Amino acid sequence: RESSVLDLNELLEEMRMVLQSLFGSSVHLSQNLATDLHDIVADRSQIEQVIMNLAINARDAMPQGGRFSVRTANLEVTRDDRHPGLPRELRPGHYATIIISDSGHGMPPEIKNQIFEPFFTTKALGQGTGLGLSTVYGVVTQDGGHISVESVPDQGTTFTIYLPAARQES
Ligand code: ADP
Ligand code: MG
Repeated sequence: RESSVLDLNELLEEMRMVLQSLFGSSVHLSQNLATDLHDIVADRSQIEQVIMNLAINARDAMPQGGRFSVRTANLEVTRDDRHPGLPRELRPGHYATIIISDSGHGMPPEIKNQIFEPFFTTKALGQGTGLGLSTVYGVVTQDGGHISVESVPDQGTTFTIYLPAARQES
């Protein structure tokens, strides 16, 4: 692992072509990148891997095509006044977040707490290893980050990744 200061917006711009070719023309790809997004400290290829694993799952969830969107935003978590939707695991501080949504088949609520476990898969034998999201979880949480998921069956799925900002002042 080789950590360096990383601009996620730049990384996502660079991945846009690869993502579009992964999905093909039946998926509409949109990107909405925050201005002045906080830098993070991470291994570039690990973060690329995270985005790819989430994109591959999104593609698998949209066999008929659909929409895939990537958004970035800054977030400050304060000690008090925490918004309701925030994961409890997040320590106070500044974060860069990546919000990744698809309009795919979604998942039933009862599997949401298993999907990050190694070898958990709902895919047919040979179609999935069940290792994608456990890798994602490991990378994202190793330096104080976090990932959460929202999913509505037949509507789609949204993953939110929280990565600590490189500089915590301001
Ligand atoms: P795999 O893709 O090999 O099955 P993952 O760890 O990447 O393993 O994902 C685990 C499971 O989580 C998937 O089998 C699927 O049931 C569910 N899942 C992950 N991403 C999505 C998504 N975007 N939409 C619907 N279900 C998903
Ligand atoms: Mg996968």
